[in-house]
Amino acid sequence: MSAAFVIEPSLAEIIEIFTINHPSNRRICPVCGLVKRSVVRCMQQVYSEMINEPKLRAEVRSRLGFCQRHSDLATTVGDPLGNSILFADLVHHSKAEFAPTSNISRRVVKQPTYTCTYCDVEHDAQTRYLHALTDGLNSMHGLWDKLENSPAILCVAHARRLVRLLNKELVPQFNKIYLIQLEKLEDDLKEFIRKNDYRSIGETLGDEQLAWQQAISLFSKK
Ligand SMILES: [Zn+2]
Ligand SMILES: [Zn+2]
Repeated sequence: MSAAFVIEPSLAEIIEIFTINHPSNRRICPVCGLVKRSVVRCMQQVYSEMINEPKLRAEVRSRLGFCQRHSDLATTVGDPLGNSILFADLVHHSKAEFAPTSNISRRVVKQPTYTCTYCDVEHDAQTRYLHALTDGLNSMHGLWDKLENSPAILCVAHARRLVRLLNKELVPQFNKIYLIQLEKLEDDLKEFIRKNDYRSIGETLGDEQLAWQQAISLFSKK
């Protein structure tokens, strides 16, 4: 790599994760982890700087709050005062629908959507990181070694999307690496099951005890 070669910031974050050579790095797909971090950072920024912005409150109101996943996240990332300010607004505007004078018929009541503002942030971050990874794999030979040797594996949904984005001639190379990673994961799951059998009492558990967490995260729906 020449000194003048500048790595795009999203790609630099991905490389950093691929380079962490620690078993705990197996718990989550690098893209999923970075997307989650983006959403958390965005939410933290909302609570620290933007909670009184009318535009933000109007957006939350018009989309009738957050989806279930991001409501759960808001209870842990958001502070009690920020959530009170945001939701007092929503509670106030929702009263009209149920007031005795309401003339909104059941036919025209707006149905809640199942996505929210943070789902949009998540979608944008996902696209950004996947494109950064694709560009990196299309142009940087050294990134393939990091992909192959990292304890972290892409989840199936992101692997599928990457295959659609990669230069066609690189797809067999990716599939070969991914297949080996799936085989290793399967072996680890089997090894963990074997060591939990009464015939294996006394055997020490190794990295394979983290395999089930990796398997769950590998198949989480996006
Ligand atoms: Zn993923
Ligand atoms: Zn959401």
